[in-house]
Amino acid sequence: MDKIILLVESSNYLGRTIKHKLEKRIEYRVLWFKNRKEVEEKSINYSDIDIALIDFNLPGNDSSEILNICYKNNISTILIAEQITNDIQEQIWTKKVIDYILKSQADFVDNIVVSLDRVFSNHEIVILIVDSSLESREHLKEILRPQRYSIIEANNNNEAMKLLNSNENIWLVITDHITPELDGLKLTRDIRKRYCLDRLAIIGVSGQGNHSLKIQFIKSGANDFINKPFISELLHCRITQTLKIVNYFKKLKEQALFDHLTKLNNRHYLQQTGPLLLDNTKRNGIFIVTAMIDIDNFKLVNDTYGHDSGDIVLKEVAYILKTSIRKSDLAIRYGGEEFVIIGINMNPKNAIAFFDRIREQISNKQIILKGLSVTITVSIGLCIERLETIGEMINIADIKMYEAKTSGKNRVCV
Ligand code: GH3
Ligand code: MG
Ligand code: MG
Repeated sequence: MDKIILLVESSNYLGRTIKHKLEKRIEYRVLWFKNRKEVEEKSINYSDIDIALIDFNLPGNDSSEILNICYKNNISTILIAEQITNDIQEQIWTKKVIDYILKSQADFVDNIVVSLDRVFSNHEIVILIVDSSLESREHLKEILRPQRYSIIEANNNNEAMKLLNSNENIWLVITDHITPELDGLKLTRDIRKRYCLDRLAIIGVSGQGNHSLKIQFIKSGANDFINKPFISELLHCRITQTLKIVNYFKKLKEQALFDHLTKLNNRHYLQQTGPLLLDNTKRNGIFIVTAMIDIDNFKLVNDTYGHDSGDIVLKEVAYILKTSIRKSDLAIRYGGEEFVIIGINMNPKNAIAFFDRIREQISNKQIILKGLSVTITVSIGLCIERLETIGEMINIADIKMYEAKTSGKNRVCV
């Protein structure tokens, strides 16, 4: 659905540039006015406006009047300003302004886009507030409200741990220090025993913010500590900063364990989880089947249609593999055009038929490359026994895959 942005900017050049830049995004529609009079004449339906972008240096006191209108209509606002003054800072936190962008910054218009994108995606980030006082929780929620995070609350340690267990999207826990119901330091230690930085961040808060408490929080695993009463802008900056770090860690983890092109797990992931998986099948006497799948004559695809077409083929094959296996199985991009599948609890007797169906499905898939419909085939080698290591099983599957190649390709060997 369209996101409607109210832009009030008196400069023709800036107004046009901002509107143009934002509307390059199909989801953004900009209503641009040059002053308060124009805004009032247009009888806008304020409930349709998602965000307002207001120049703080409009002639007269237009800026603060429009800011007031937005505040009264519950519209979150981003300010555009020549420079940051005490007056702006005052307005910002009394009028629920989400952010301010300085015109002096070189990438000023890009920063507006970044800021808007952030606000619109913040609802995917869940913040857990742990505080035994309802009033304190409400206060913090009120400060965070304009940023549009999803907020959930817990009263004590137990409740907090339960919520963490059941909600993967909690990116940040903000916990109070100590009350009869709650022990923030213990909670921090308990959380860190189970969840690392690539899952979530913790910020401790307290009214008795001495240095020693701050150190204890950080040593227990918190990312930051903030004194009460909150200075809203500082709180906001430190939360944003902390969330950036979590995001960075999540991205790093993703890059380390997933193949960028096919979105399948990569070899590194297999090395990490393989031994555990194998142990588990040993302990429970479960079957495990390993398959090595190699695209036939793939170099020819690259040479004929180009490398980008080769990438399309890789994605198509990965998609078929991923959607053919069960949740408990693993599909790995093992190398360039080689894939490994680990089938858990797959009966060896059924393995050949199962992989032959995958082989057939791939060979029947019409892939459009440079406007032409093309088909490809794969050779598959299987190891249907459980050996000492995943590496040994992959070796056998690789030898069998080679047999499939030398005996004519487009087949399964075991
Ligand atoms: P065979 O039937 O014996 O398997 O022959 P083949 O051509 O499939 O195998 P070969 O090992 O000769 O070539 C594999 C090619 O895969 C060479 C390499 O350039 C290409 N390749 C590896 N990774 C990628 C990738 O990410 N994208 C694309 N487009 N090509 C890749
Ligand atoms: Mg190969
Ligand atoms: Mg090949």
